[in-house]
Amino acid sequence: MATNKSAQGLVPPYIESLHAYVPGKPIEEVERELGLTPVKLASNENPFGPSPKAVQAMKERLGESHRYPDAGGFYLRRKLAGHHEVEMDNIVLGCGSTELIQLACRIYCRPGDAGLTSEGTFVVFQMSLQAVGGDLVTVPLKEFAFDLDAIAAAVNGNVCVLYFANPNNPTGTMFTASDFDRFLQRVPEDVLVILDEAYCDYVEAEDYSRSLDYVREGRYVLVLRTFSKIYGLAGIRIGYGVGHPEVISALNKVRSPFNFSGLALAAAEAALDDIEHVQQSLQRNREGRTFLQKQFADLGFTVAPSCANFLYLESGHDPRAAQEFLLRQGVIVRPLGFMGMPRGLRITVGAEEENQKAVEAFRLLKDELPVTAGK
Ligand code: PLP
Repeated sequence: MATNKSAQGLVPPYIESLHAYVPGKPIEEVERELGLTPVKLASNENPFGPSPKAVQAMKERLGESHRYPDAGGFYLRRKLAGHHEVEMDNIVLGCGSTELIQLACRIYCRPGDAGLTSEGTFVVFQMSLQAVGGDLVTVPLKEFAFDLDAIAAAVNGNVCVLYFANPNNPTGTMFTASDFDRFLQRVPEDVLVILDEAYCDYVEAEDYSRSLDYVREGRYVLVLRTFSKIYGLAGIRIGYGVGHPEVISALNKVRSPFNFSGLALAAAEAALDDIEHVQQSLQRNREGRTFLQKQFADLGFTVAPSCANFLYLESGHDPRAAQEFLLRQGVIVRPLGFMGMPRGLRITVGAEEENQKAVEAFRLLKDELPVTAGK
């Protein structure tokens, strides 16, 4: 029924002031606009695709699409529990790990509570916190990495959740397990600590992370993992959290009953078994990253020391102008103003020929686009 009542003011101010997430440009859009087929190096996807075993498993599951999926994701959770040596009630599945960030903020933050993280990190935490009326508190990055001392010093009675991306997006840097052990000793036990390890499979450092030990020891943490990165299943939307059973139980209460599909369950289970696909992706990423790091350094750009499948760089150009320039050369990258890094660009490590094309495009950028700022 039509009504004259104005709808203004029904949306809370903390939602009204939000900006919707702007994803990396889809290839189809660039094809339409510029009439060329670009390489997409904007969203930290696996350029080598999904595991063929995952694709086959999805094909086999397609005929069951008239059925709702197993809402508890029993077989995938059982497999993950074995894989990580935790209990099944330590694991919750999500429509990507981003869904679990949103739900955790909804559960742990009331309007006026604070969430604490670093500047220059994955923007979904900020958005999820602000969407429930939480206040965002950040401390600056230190040499492109989380400054754990500064974060520990900023924890106060208002803070209900801490968010860490390790490796960090967009800088690709990591902090060590020993540093984080020391950090945790300074943090009250009743604050939820989210450790987002979306890129953990790319890290080869010895002292990387003890996040799953914290779960086994009963600490109040939520570790986030995803099938979107090294497993190459970003389009299928499946991620998971490993955490304290109370955290997992709360997440299960608020998630939508069918927040992941049967195809996603089938793909994820098969992908976990395809160790060869993971190993190859890891090796090719390592080679590509080393190549790009060297080429960009030779071009005189500042490159953060990444241990993930992407690089953060500062070229001295206006990042938006650089993005447009590179786009016309057929290379899609991400300017990082939206992540609070107005001088930075992020580029995903691609397949060999994509990396070559990217370097050529950046070389042209250096020659043809005037520099606007100090690096
Ligand atoms: N966490 C971080 C730090 C990310 O960079 C990304 C994707 O870019 C995600 C989570 C998203 O993961 P998902 O696709 O599982 O939602």
